[in-house]
Amino acid sequence: MEDWKFYMPTRIRFGWGRFKEIREVVEELKGKKIFLVTGRNFARKSGILEKISDYLNGLKLEVFAEVEENPSIETVDQGAAKCKEAGCDLVIGLGGGSALDGGKAIAMLQKNPGSIRQYLDQERTCQVKGLPCIAIPTTSGTGSEVTPFTVVTHRAKKAKPAIAPPENFPDVALVDPELTMSMPIEVAASTGLDALCQAVEGFWSTQSNPVTRSLSFQAIKLAMESLESACFKKDKESVTNMALASHLTGIEMSNIGNTAIHPLSYPITLDYGVSHGFACAIFLPAVIRFNAQAVEERFRDLLRILNLSSVEAFADRVESLMDTLKAPRRLRPFGVKMEEIPQIVKRGMGRSTAWNPRPMAEEDLIQLCKTIL
Ligand code: NAD
Repeated sequence: MEDWKFYMPTRIRFGWGRFKEIREVVEELKGKKIFLVTGRNFARKSGILEKISDYLNGLKLEVFAEVEENPSIETVDQGAAKCKEAGCDLVIGLGGGSALDGGKAIAMLQKNPGSIRQYLDQERTCQVKGLPCIAIPTTSGTGSEVTPFTVVTHRAKKAKPAIAPPENFPDVALVDPELTMSMPIEVAASTGLDALCQAVEGFWSTQSNPVTRSLSFQAIKLAMESLESACFKKDKESVTNMALASHLTGIEMSNIGNTAIHPLSYPITLDYGVSHGFACAIFLPAVIRFNAQAVEERFRDLLRILNLSSVEAFADRVESLMDTLKAPRRLRPFGVKMEEIPQIVKRGMGRSTAWNPRPMAEEDLIQLCKTIL
């Protein structure tokens, strides 16, 4: 039997329409002056910002709608300064992974000194829990509402490092799948594929344990069965299934991290402008094939319920799903050149690459990238 441990301090409220409970959650956390961290356009355009302002009517609300995709050090520091200046006592992150990570970092910096850069560069470590933080996802992809991770773009280093102090888990995750209905198809497809990548990486990770594997298994099943209809039909059941898939991957990932796909995606997002989910998914079929033999046994039940005969058939099914979603499957259309691959791999190999079920050397990854050029 394996030895294992599991930790999840975030209190979770999940369900269609539960966004309206935000006031109750704020009161539970004794928030009086709220700093709301969100994206630049969508929250206003979709009416979500207006709704939350109504729900929180009477409380002091400071809105920081400045978080860009893959948030930068500069944006996080600017938000942290504004939050301090306004004397807020609670942070709400409302949005995709970018806004949630921004909110988590801003909450942390209210009680820990300095710039987020110093934490990313490991010059400082988080010493105390920041302000209370509520995370409300509006994409179904990252699960950031239940992780301690904050991923921030470090332009000077051309990297996307993360910090993960346990104090950084949000206090409450309020997951209302209805909030994801306004995602355009491309965002729903990209973020949904991110959830699928996280689920697969979690399922085969050498760091996994029985609890995380149960979560990953369920998340893969939900994403494989519901992603297409969540994007095209937007029916309540599929949209809810994708919110759940993403959320479950966040819970498992918070305990065990990722494997090879996520770190490889970072240079593709940073240098070639590919959205986070698509940048991950582009590697998924090739990495499944690379790992096929090593994961055959673990995938047996999963293949049975997906009605597939082999791990290779699973890779084929993922490719066909990506084609239906119009997700990119090759690197060259984004301007990646053959001679750039060794550098992409060097920068992309992260700590979690070592947790891939089949050992992966730099040369393996170079060969793998060439097959998807
Ligand atoms: P995102 O947050 O960057 O959002 C993508 C786009 O969709 C943005 O333009 C945003 O404004 C828009 N959007 C969000 N919700 C919408 C809605 N309901 N309707 C219309 N538009 C909407 O995308 P993401 O994939 O959710 O997050 C990616 C970021 O999260 C990356 O920086 C990634 O590294 C990070 N991440 C963090 C964790 C974690 O645990 N902290 C895990 C995985 C990824």
